[in-house]
Amino acid sequence: MEERYQPQAIEEKWQRIWEGNKTFEAFEDHGKPKYFVLEMFPYPSGRIHMGHVRNYTIGDVVARYKRMRGFNVLHPMGWDAFGLPAENAAIERGVHPELWTRENILYMKNQLKRMGLSYDWTREIATCEPDYYRWNQWIFLQFFKRGLAYKKGSAVNWCPSCETVLANEQVIDGACWRCDSAVVQKELEQWFFRITDYAEELLRDLDRLGGWPDKVLTMQRNWIGKSIGAEILFPLIGREGALRVFTTRQDTAYGATFVSIAAEHPLALELCRGTAQENAVKEFVERVKNVSMANRGAEEGEKEGVFTGAFCRNPFTGEQIPIYLANFILMEYGTGAVMAVPAHDQRDFKFAKKYGLPIRVVIQPRDRVLSAGELTEAFVDAGVMADSGPFSGLANDDGKEKIAAYLEEQGWGKKAIRYRLRDWGVSRQRYWGTPIPILYCARCGVVPVPEDQLPVVLPTAVPFSGKGGSPLLESKLFTQVPCSKCGGAARRETDTMDTFVDSSWYFLRYASAHHLTAPFDSDKACYWMAVDQYIGGVEHAVLHLLYARFFTKALRDLGLAAVDEPFNNLLTQGMVSKETYRCSEHNWLFPAELLGSEKEGWKCPHCNRSAEKGRVEKMSKSKKNIVDPEDLINAYGADTARLFTLFAAPPEKDLEWSDQGVEGAFRFLTRLWRFVFQHRERFAGLDTAGRSDEPPFELRELRRMIHKTVKKVTEDIEGRFHFNTAIAAIMELFNAVSTAAQDPVRLNDGAPLIKQGLETMIVMLAPFVPHLAGELWEQLGHRESLDQIPWPIYAPEALEEEKLMIVVQINGKVRGKITVPADVNQAYIQTEALADSRVAGFLDGKKIQRVVYVPRRLLNIVVEG
Ligand SMILES: [Zn+2]
Ligand SMILES: [Zn+2]
Ligand SMILES: [Zn+2]
Repeated sequence: MEERYQPQAIEEKWQRIWEGNKTFEAFEDHGKPKYFVLEMFPYPSGRIHMGHVRNYTIGDVVARYKRMRGFNVLHPMGWDAFGLPAENAAIERGVHPELWTRENILYMKNQLKRMGLSYDWTREIATCEPDYYRWNQWIFLQFFKRGLAYKKGSAVNWCPSCETVLANEQVIDGACWRCDSAVVQKELEQWFFRITDYAEELLRDLDRLGGWPDKVLTMQRNWIGKSIGAEILFPLIGREGALRVFTTRQDTAYGATFVSIAAEHPLALELCRGTAQENAVKEFVERVKNVSMANRGAEEGEKEGVFTGAFCRNPFTGEQIPIYLANFILMEYGTGAVMAVPAHDQRDFKFAKKYGLPIRVVIQPRDRVLSAGELTEAFVDAGVMADSGPFSGLANDDGKEKIAAYLEEQGWGKKAIRYRLRDWGVSRQRYWGTPIPILYCARCGVVPVPEDQLPVVLPTAVPFSGKGGSPLLESKLFTQVPCSKCGGAARRETDTMDTFVDSSWYFLRYASAHHLTAPFDSDKACYWMAVDQYIGGVEHAVLHLLYARFFTKALRDLGLAAVDEPFNNLLTQGMVSKETYRCSEHNWLFPAELLGSEKEGWKCPHCNRSAEKGRVEKMSKSKKNIVDPEDLINAYGADTARLFTLFAAPPEKDLEWSDQGVEGAFRFLTRLWRFVFQHRERFAGLDTAGRSDEPPFELRELRRMIHKTVKKVTEDIEGRFHFNTAIAAIMELFNAVSTAAQDPVRLNDGAPLIKQGLETMIVMLAPFVPHLAGELWEQLGHRESLDQIPWPIYAPEALEEEKLMIVVQINGKVRGKITVPADVNQAYIQTEALADSRVAGFLDGKKIQRVVYVPRRLLNIVVEG
């Protein structure tokens, strides 16, 4: 053993041993409880960042801990390998997306291995492999057969100058990321997954996910957005038909003074035809079309509209009311038409004020009377119905139910439920994704590719110009194929799938990563699923986590998956952040390029102006506050990197980078190393197993602390994942162990106990700093590897604080006995003795002359007389 702690050599050694021994390969074993721990797989962007380090280290501690607790652990890793950055690299630098992706995977895999993460690499998957994405295609075909995949027209972002569809991420402030042209909306035929069929189940089952953070559950609930209300028909004046509106506030129907419809509403242009409003409406429709949906729906945006020239009838009041187009009504939601009740809806209120439309109060608060003329904002609270025909005087909540029933009686509408959730548009006009397995034949129409012809492989030789549509359009070999039904000429679908499809079922694939005849082996998936602990960023709270839930349910209904929910427990780790520096002229600066010093103040290297220490922000390249994990590992080793990220903050909180924190972690590991180096010879031959003899008094406290620490560390990890406090407790135990070892007497009498304390600590450190712990264990003379050692258990009786029985005498005569904790001083014992009622009776207020204390045994109080 070297005296100096040299992490690089140790870490390489243990990584080789784990690999050679296949320590982390998982097999189905029905004799053990299984535990599936999974971190969200990364996009292979090039290098791992501190966010990855944190995410995977948390998962690794859980995996290693559960193994020590006797679980059969599955802890796999893979690559979410399709996506836009690979294609951008091709456009910008001429590297083929496939090459770029494969090189990145190799590099990052090596980085992850250097972290000492306990993955079963035999189950590695990459979603860009035909072996993987053929099952995306196969699932697509099953969905298609059952009507869960279908095609319809939908708006996309379109850059008129690049003549290409843009992903939302490629639209920056409404402009194209490449050429800065204003982006417009264009209608295209696209493929959708009918996730809305599962809206109710997706909502209801959130109640079963007790192991998920509340904020994620709330975000999913809001995303699904169930509203219970009514559909009401507003008959058109002077023509056939009616406008169908959906409302959750049918109790305010008597206050509807106009109807607003979306610019895309099928009646929009028809209603204005021949009226004086025709041109104004057309102009408005053109203008609104080019604004993205997100901006139109935004709360703060300007509310604008135009009168259609047409009217409808409010069935409740019988009045003719005007129909308006409004920019904030979206066709996507509800029916694309709403009854506008300005007195009780803030958007309608603003709109009515702007266009001089009537306002009628139909809900009155209980404590005052509102009049329409005095309103400065809509009254949206609960109250009593007023001016509402036979319903006046009802509490408005009761009114909702009564009005809904009345509607149905009158044939004016019906009760209705709406979800905010829309079907999932999965078509992407991109190259680097899963080809959608569909052909278009002039004779047969839409033809699914036969299953035995899967996978539809992405062609390699395609140009990446960034112009026009998908690069796949340029490959005649790919697009021009014979129809698989009639053999005639057919055209292949050139859209690829949204990469969220890839990540919607990858966790199932891990159960049998190389299965050839189905997406996964159902028996194996049945053994491993559901994921017991899923770990990843909260930014995936809706899309990925909702799609994965939808896929699990849909695959269950196809008879493939045996669970209703994919992830039993979810941990969303916080961000990794760091301080920033900026110059008023040159913006963000790297700390390393600053001139000056902390004391004199930092200066900008470009202009010598003072550089301001900015806020602590999430690490990002653009803010120049990143730390490359590779530098960290090169300088301190993976164990220090792991210990620092785990110790600095609880996993769900943000972690603020600190150089001192890193050094502190390294110092602790170095001290531990030195301690073992110093004492290993004395300890190596000592037997600590099965010792039950009572340690001497000075060491009893140490024994208690060992057991107390095991209890605390176990409880901190179990369920709560409070690794930071667990590590702090281990550090305290180390202090106690090393203090005890400094005392020659205690070291002599208590070497077995001190060794036990040290080894307990090392075993508990194994999940956190596995290389160092493994090495120290070996250096202490163990032949069995630390990877085989179970998690320590504590003896409840050893936790009890030692009590002493003190005899209390008055003038040499025994007058009482008191029980006190063993570690208290004379003053404490004296106070307790005097408070004892029996002793107090004998004292009878007499003056105390002096007190004699025989440690741990006797207190003699000497009084006058
Ligand atoms: Zn462009
Ligand atoms: Zn055909
Ligand atoms: Zn500057």
